[in-house]
Amino acid sequence: MTDNAPAPAIEIANLTKVYKGGKLALDNINLTIPRGQIYGLLGPNGAGKSTTINILAGLVNKTSGSARIWGFDIDQNPRNAKNSIGIVPQEIVFDPFFTPFETLENQAGYYGVPQGRRRSMDLLRAVHLEDKANAYARTLSGGMKRRLLVAKAMVHSPPILVLDEPTAGVDVQLRQQLWAYVRELNRQGVTIVLTTHYLEEAEELCDRIGIINHGKVITDKPTRELIAMAQEKVVQVTVDRDVVTPPADPSFEKVELSDARTLTITYMKSRANAGQVLNAVLASGLSIVDVVTRDPDLEDVFLNLTAAA
Ligand code: ADP
Repeated sequence: MTDNAPAPAIEIANLTKVYKGGKLALDNINLTIPRGQIYGLLGPNGAGKSTTINILAGLVNKTSGSARIWGFDIDQNPRNAKNSIGIVPQEIVFDPFFTPFETLENQAGYYGVPQGRRRSMDLLRAVHLEDKANAYARTLSGGMKRRLLVAKAMVHSPPILVLDEPTAGVDVQLRQQLWAYVRELNRQGVTIVLTTHYLEEAEELCDRIGIINHGKVITDKPTRELIAMAQEKVVQVTVDRDVVTPPADPSFEKVELSDARTLTITYMKSRANAGQVLNAVLASGLSIVDVVTRDPDLEDVFLNLTAAA
């Protein structure tokens, strides 16, 4: 063997899913999630996030393409692939007759973790449920159940933890606790993948963000690069006559004709200001009738990226 770099945490190649009935949920996606990161998979509802996660979890069969988890192909090496990943599902599903401790022990049994290597109490402590170890699951609050799901996903000590919309309907305090635990796991070396449609959450937590829309990956960048895209400002200028060729200027990042008399000019906050942009329009011989400026944030970047198509 040469000293190859270790396989990425997750490697998805040409993955396509067509559900029965013909819905194309994933359209030939490629995605590489490096080891050691907190990776955010973002996208509007129906984008294909859960389909992706469920294929990795072995809960949904792909139509074509391939996926590797920690280097293990999900078809050729399903057992190792499955052992390498812990999934916190979106839906809360428990057998209400088991206590949290029993729930974790059962799960450990399912993964074949020997008695001596089980760490149910440690996991309960980590998610602040040690005092509920022997309570019936049905007596737990929604937030407690979600924490228990996280512990359950970790019983076999997988190197990758996937959280599917983990904070949907979860209050702020619990969210903070959950993220503190996720960060701690990440510090210990666990690669984290989370799907969310809360942009702020992704911005705060994730090293890298992939955005998926209509079954396609439309961007996959380090979070700070994505945030840099929010440096783009947009000014819409209405001029006094029809324009055939929009003016050009070094202060413009991009210029488009939204209609015959409206120029939509994008510029970088770091390189130009609105005054320079407007002066450039005037210098081209046009008179300005109206101006609208907008200051995009990450939400806008997201909306811009997901609005097309
Ligand atoms: P997300 O998790 O991003 O909200 P999903 O992966 O759940 O998106 O869904 C992607 C698309 O596939 C949606 O249009 C959804 O309606 C469709 N879909 C999901 N599950 C099924 C299913 N079991 N049968 C048919 N269509 C499905």
